[in-house]
Amino acid sequence: MKTTLPVYRPLLPPVQSILPYLAQLDSRRVYTNRGPLAEQLEARLAVLLAGRADTLVTAASGTAALQAAILAHAGRPRGRRTLALIPGYTFVATAFAAMAAGYEPLFCDLAPGSWRLRPDDLPPDLPTSRLGLVLPVAPFGEMPLQRDWSAFQARTGIKVVIDAAASFEALLAAPGEAVGAVPVALSFHATKSFSTGEGGAVLWADRDGLVRAAQAMNFGMVYTRESRAAGFNGKLSEYHAAIGLAWLDGLDRRIAARRRVAARYRKAAAAHGLADHLLLPPAIASCYALFRADSGADAAAASESLARAGIETRRWYGLGVQAEAYFRARGAAPLPETERLAARIIGLPVAEDIAASDIARILRALAARGAQ
Ligand SMILES: *Cc1c(COP(=O)(O)O)cnc(C)c1O
Repeated sequence: MKTTLPVYRPLLPPVQSILPYLAQLDSRRVYTNRGPLAEQLEARLAVLLAGRADTLVTAASGTAALQAAILAHAGRPRGRRTLALIPGYTFVATAFAAMAAGYEPLFCDLAPGSWRLRPDDLPPDLPTSRLGLVLPVAPFGEMPLQRDWSAFQARTGIKVVIDAAASFEALLAAPGEAVGAVPVALSFHATKSFSTGEGGAVLWADRDGLVRAAQAMNFGMVYTRESRAAGFNGKLSEYHAAIGLAWLDGLDRRIAARRRVAARYRKAAAAHGLADHLLLPPAIASCYALFRADSGADAAAASESLARAGIETRRWYGLGVQAEAYFRARGAAPLPETERLAARIIGLPVAEDIAASDIARILRALAARGAQ
């Protein structure tokens, strides 16, 4: 019996490496509310991802970071501008964050041949006067399109927040490029490339905006105990910050390990003539290896062949948020391009320490798809 290969096997820093940070807690007795460890993590991440200080605040999750960025930037809906334009091709969290901030999601289809929303591709029949917010997504950790969306925001006056949940490595490779007038939300969930267990951050060039984001994540309170804006509890605890600090201590080693995994995937794919079908880092985040099938039927054959070999696969974004039962029941319309694309993209197993023999097994099963 073959052992099952899970689609993602997270690897957080060993407990031993987190202990020196946790040991500070006993004497200090500060456990949350952006304590010293969270501040230290923010300072280190700001330098790594933006090249300068005061560009980032931490959050309890990627969803909390999105929700805080929305409240700090667009605020709750005003007047008729109650809709948030969201690409269907994303994880459900994007839509739930908009709804938590008071917006109704309006799902947008993709342009043929694209897997992300670009300002130039927006449909001409959008109800522009009803849009309070646009939430573009950087799929699978691609570089967020800060320049394009900043220009859109300046031109239309419609506020934009980018969901770049998995884009830690893209930002790391080009520090500062993602920082601008549009806030960018990151996730540090255990399945993402950089993780604090649960966590996230808002990256933004607007210092006052970052204070408002932190305020939103602290019940609307900042500097005083008075609640002066819409808020919720979105704070990263000191325990989670300790995990992030330990992770950053091993940054170079971990990045090198991930490069080796991508190189192994590339080599195995080439050996089976499947190089064109695999999407791998650095184009996407190292927590993903994606198989792009020729059609939905080809993808289904691939998933079946892999399942027979005991290999788990996942459509990370399902068939799009609009196709999820909850959103269908709320009246979300089908999005043909999104559903066509989503049906073709399959997540393959990834782990920082995945064996070369397992990758070979995955490629063999892919090459044999449709043979039975
Ligand atoms: C992971 C992810 C999120 C949610 O992040 P959490 O930290 O789990 O809240 C949101 N959007 C996208 C695109 C994601 O991949």
